Amino acid sequence: MATTRQQILEFMRAHRMAVQASVANWSAPQAAAVGIVVTDAFEVFFDTLDTSRKAANLRTNSNVAFVIGGLLDGEEKTVQYEGVADEPSGVELEQLKQEYFASFPDGPERQAWAGITYVRARPRWLRFSDFTQSPPEIIELRFDDGLANSTMTPVGLTSRWIAAARAFETESEAPLFRDPLARALAGTAGFAMMAEIRAVFGLPQSKPDPYLSIRTRFFDDAIIDAVSEGPITQVVILAAGMDARAFRLEWPAGLTLFEIDRHEVFDHKEAILARLEARPRCDRRLVRADLTKPWTEALLEAGFDPSRPAAFLAEGLLMYLDDRAVADLFASIGGIARAGSWIGMDVVNTDMLTSGYTAVYMKKLADMGCPWKFGVNDPIEFLAAHGWRGAVVEPGEPGANYGRWPFPAMPRDMPNLPRIVLVTARAG
Ligand code: SAM
Repeated sequence: MATTRQQILEFMRAHRMAVQASVANWSAPQAAAVGIVVTDAFEVFFDTLDTSRKAANLRTNSNVAFVIGGLLDGEEKTVQYEGVADEPSGVELEQLKQEYFASFPDGPERQAWAGITYVRARPRWLRFSDFTQSPPEIIELRFDDGLANSTMTPVGLTSRWIAAARAFETESEAPLFRDPLARALAGTAGFAMMAEIRAVFGLPQSKPDPYLSIRTRFFDDAIIDAVSEGPITQVVILAAGMDARAFRLEWPAGLTLFEIDRHEVFDHKEAILARLEARPRCDRRLVRADLTKPWTEALLEAGFDPSRPAAFLAEGLLMYLDDRAVADLFASIGGIARAGSWIGMDVVNTDMLTSGYTAVYMKKLADMGCPWKFGVNDPIEFLAAHGWRGAVVEPGEPGANYGRWPFPAMPRDMPNLPRIVLVTARAG
């Protein structure tokens, strides 16, 4: 009879030691023996020191592999395991430590060691081989459960990936913003999607994403400025996804905030918000609409007043639309945005879509079902053609840095580079 998934788990758990491999940042493989426990979700957990090669490697490239079993003479069964490592924190870490300490009674003592840290690997693939049978039994398991179990489309799910990144920023030492709802809104599928995308670059799994953190903070400040300065009392968040600004920003009294996104996104979001009894700090209204179809009627029905200026935000949206849809979107916004209205958006250039530097990333997004399609090289000119006076800032430049951008700001006149910019503009 074929070995079951549960039996493979039990086989792994019968081993307290594994060979673990990571990749040094000069791309050399490095291996070590580690004491492990394996959770119900096939996660492998171990402790190590900050100063170890594996800790340093996994912080720069989170891809990790193990061999479990098969090392003793006569034990002709083995598990090869490939996954993505992170260093969990908070309640999650405490639970994992309890499992670990049950198997390693000296574990609690080691907590006092300087530089002790805890690594958890989430599985992406494993192969169980039993060479005691002829022919050998080989079973492969693939783990994309968080994503595969979600009922949302890949484009809808991107909103939960971004929420996962906001959760990491919120839980970091000196957060640029706090979004206490982000972790719940992201859920397993959001973290799974983020892990899958970060694995393409071998990026650390449980750290904030500098770009997304800067973008969130930039638009937090910019939109509050926009509604504080003048007569704007309506905000429209286009493709709101898991955006929780209605709940976490200090809005002026009397402000109405419209969130637009598709049914699948709000079905997920509203259920979580209701469970958490989240209370908005403004008059929050939902508009369930597809932005590639006529949508302004639904916004008007929700109470939007086109005779008054408004603030619009299109964060993390335009790249998922094609040229036609973006042109239609701006025509629609133009039809309801009175002079004095404000808009914020992030936009990529065409090199982002075509450059060799980003080819692997673009392919990954396309393979996952959420390809990036729209880029524009001169957002100011693009906005001017639609009646907006815009200003652009690149992450890393003063105004979009917050001490967080890990690279030198790219000179604006350096050609042929993939770029993503933060844009704000006024109508009229
Ligand atoms: N703005 C949010 C943020 O920054 O966290 C979400 C960004 S997420 C990367 C992209 C969002 O665009 C998803 O919520 C998705 O549902 C939404 N979206 C993409 N195409 C859309 C469309 N045609 N109509 C409505 N929403 C759309």
